[in-house]
Amino acid sequence: MYPITIVGGGIAGLALAASLNPERFQVTVHEQRRELPSVETSLAMWPEAQQALDVVGILPAIRAAGSGFEGMALRDVSGRVWLRTRIDGVIGVSRADLLRLLDAAVPESVSRVHATVTSVPGAAGSLAGQGLLVGADGVHSVVRRECWGPRSKARLSPYLALRGIIGETLPPDSGGEYWGRGELFGIAPASRNRTYWYASFRSDMGPGSIDTAAALDLTRARFSGKASGIGRVLASATPSETLAQRIWTTPVLGTYARGGAVLVGDAAHAMTPNLGRGACEALLDSVTLAGLLNSQPVTEALRAYNKRRLLRSQALRAASSAMARLVLAEAAQPVRDGILGLARRLSRTGAGPSV
Ligand SMILES: Cc1cc2nc3c(=O)[nH]c(=O)nc-3n(C[C@H](O)[C@H](O)[C@H](O)COP(=O)(O)OP(=O)(O)OC[C@H]3O[C@@H](n4cnc5c(N)ncnc54)[C@H](O)[C@@H]3O)c2cc1C
Repeated sequence: MYPITIVGGGIAGLALAASLNPERFQVTVHEQRRELPSVETSLAMWPEAQQALDVVGILPAIRAAGSGFEGMALRDVSGRVWLRTRIDGVIGVSRADLLRLLDAAVPESVSRVHATVTSVPGAAGSLAGQGLLVGADGVHSVVRRECWGPRSKARLSPYLALRGIIGETLPPDSGGEYWGRGELFGIAPASRNRTYWYASFRSDMGPGSIDTAAALDLTRARFSGKASGIGRVLASATPSETLAQRIWTTPVLGTYARGGAVLVGDAAHAMTPNLGRGACEALLDSVTLAGLLNSQPVTEALRAYNKRRLLRSQALRAASSAMARLVLAEAAQPVRDGILGLARRLSRTGAGPSV
């Protein structure tokens, strides 16, 4: 039995632990969290991530627990629609449901350690013994810090992100993403007749623990007098059902495998949330790595994993940052809005982009 030590039992770590062949590997997962996150949020699962969930064996349960996305309206902050897009095959799923189902898919043979890993002495050395050390420990990864060095430290973006769920449905004509000057607000249907919302704008709150009530007040003040759907969501949102955090990203990495260590998920490529791809890519990393490890010698599997996952996930990381700059544009906002207004007029005449 070859030992594999996974630091982090979030989406990436659990998906990996659930997909590794238990007859070949002795797997241990170190996770600091003892319970599921107390605040519910929603994640968009794109078709490729659904294929990964199918490999893990939980796609039918995810489909049953999730809600469909039919389309999305892109609006200015007064609520006026610029464009409507069709989004086929995407499922919105609660993060808690996803973590619960991934957790239940992990075989009994996997050992669980509920503790914070503070260092990995000798890089991949003593924690993993002679085996493989997997950093699935998110954007502030200890494994990345110890094995890739201080230059791999996470970068703080200037943006604050809030997200939460309210226990009511909103009229369909208030759904979509609202782009203002340096500010974003999103409203989407969530499972069990609820509504998922998110907001982002520049702020110097944090970056450590953030007072959610103060962040919510700041958001209410910022979006006051804007679209009625936003006002309705913020009137119902409560601090206990809201998560507020600064957005961090990882720097460009030239490899995801170094010595006896390998990175998956946000530890490898934490990105701004503007493309809704981070968790999807985490699932793809883990299922790809497990498939390769299950079928090839470890060294070859790591080489193949790097080849399959590095460029694509780094490209998405860069694309997400570019999207953040567009969505949260300040000086360039009038130009952006002018182009979107033109696209709306062209689409009315039938000459515009078909999105
Ligand atoms: C506002 C926002 C909205 C988003 N929306 C979407 C979306 O719609 N779709 C999408 O695909 N993605 C989305 N994402 C991204 C997604 O949340 C992440 O990409 C995903 O959670 C990454 O999973 P992970 O398992 O790699 O890392 P994490 O979820 O960060 O999990 C890491 C785990 O490791 C544990 N851990 C960390 N350090 C240690 C340690 N030292 N010792 C022990 N345990 C440790 C943590 O407790 C945690 O459980 C969003 C992100 C944000 C911030």
